[in-house]
Amino acid sequence: MIVMKFGGTSVGSAESITAIVGIVASFSKSGKSPFVVVSAVSGVTDLLLASARKALEKGVLVGELVKGIRDKHSLLARQLGVPEEVYFAELTELEHVLFGVSLVRELTPRTTDRIASFGERVSARIVAAFARNNGLNARAFDAYDLGMVTDGSFGNAEILPATQALIRKAVKGIPRGVIPVVTGFIGRTGDGDITTLGRGGSDYSASIYGAALGAEEIQIWTDVDGVMTADPRMVPDARTVGVVSFEEASELAYFGAKVLHPKTIIPAMEKDIPVRVLNTFNPSGKGTTILRTVSRDGSITAITSKKNILVININSARMLLAYGFMEKVFSLFSEYRISVDMIATSEVNVTVTLERKYDVSGLVERLKEFANVTVLPGRASISVVGEGARSRPGTGARIFSVLGREGINVEMTSQSYNDVGVSVVVREESLNEAVLALHGEFFGGVQGKRAVKAAHRGKVKFTRG
Ligand code: ADP
Ligand code: ASP
Ligand code: MG
Repeated sequence: MIVMKFGGTSVGSAESITAIVGIVASFSKSGKSPFVVVSAVSGVTDLLLASARKALEKGVLVGELVKGIRDKHSLLARQLGVPEEVYFAELTELEHVLFGVSLVRELTPRTTDRIASFGERVSARIVAAFARNNGLNARAFDAYDLGMVTDGSFGNAEILPATQALIRKAVKGIPRGVIPVVTGFIGRTGDGDITTLGRGGSDYSASIYGAALGAEEIQIWTDVDGVMTADPRMVPDARTVGVVSFEEASELAYFGAKVLHPKTIIPAMEKDIPVRVLNTFNPSGKGTTILRTVSRDGSITAITSKKNILVININSARMLLAYGFMEKVFSLFSEYRISVDMIATSEVNVTVTLERKYDVSGLVERLKEFANVTVLPGRASISVVGEGARSRPGTGARIFSVLGREGINVEMTSQSYNDVGVSVVVREESLNEAVLALHGEFFGGVQGKRAVKAAHRGKVKFTRG
């Protein structure tokens, strides 16, 4: 069996759905038993979440909100020759839930997740119906009917220890020869509440199914040629990396490479199942294969970045040589359920970065009881990732000298525990320039603003690595 996950843009138009059904058919013909996981049609999850918020407004017409979502799908369905009946029940249910929100003017995390779930529930039905029209024995399933049981952390749910066994049991019940087309992103608690695994979570769903079912391979089909040396939207000459280790892929995903949800690698790594990242719009490309070990010749694998970062600086001279400073600091982060990305420490200082989505006011008040605290918004982190990056002499020096040359101040640095990355924090307004300059340094190509200017003056030649 192979698990094949298709992201939002891969199910975003009639052409792309036609393409993915062709891809599934060719794997099916070669005897690979596809297990298909799909995301919502691109833009639909955002639209659903916006509709949920709008339903709270006075005088809103719920029918209008549902119409926006229905129109988006009915256009697709019409182009594909799929009858709207296949997802009629889902849209009716969505309308009822939005009515409920608008009536009581209350939107809980539980209801938000239920509303967000409709994107995948509808897209799975459209894809399965279109695949059937094209001669495949496909059937749509909601993940929770195939064992995807989670805890009740709405918006960021986690699977339970029993989940993998429940998945195996449920999937055994599917008749032989049927190609399941399953909703990514969603699950359900033991009490029957629908949950979501976090934005971009369909990758994680695919990996959970892959691990539970002992798949030969987990394929993530998306809109780029694989994991690239940088986000191609920021670095136009970024190129595809052929092989990436599990550790490198995790580091890249945690530090901002949107191509994979950060948790995707965990289930695959546990069962040692290769993950491949492939391009729906270039299916004959090699893509990227993510494996347990790769041999690096000392080169860097990729550069990734994260915007909307807050830096919190916690200083306490009083705590010099005193026990328990770190414990005090981090127990507060845990009490406020705030997860930190990077940490740098000295005897009397702890500096951390975290995503701006957190409200840190309560935490900061508590920290101020025993430390001087400064909060710096508007920061971005950049991570230079590659097996052995930290221990390789010169990586840090190269990062500093390139950024220094560009006049970009590094406000914090941190190294990953497993020697696969070095991260730095810069001001958000310098981010693009910094990433371009670092990509130029490690991979060749245009090397940042100053280098571009110098090149125009004929002093520097552009290089390609
Ligand atoms: P999907 O809808 O298929 O899940 P996403 O938009 O979530 O697709 O992820 C694919 C996008 O990730 C790409 O279009 C690209 O802009 C972005 N991306 C960021 N960093 C990287 C990287 N290092 N390699 C490849 N893509 C990246
Ligand atoms: N549809 C969900 C989202 O937009 C999940 C996913 O695409 O992976 O976040
Ligand atoms: Mg994604």
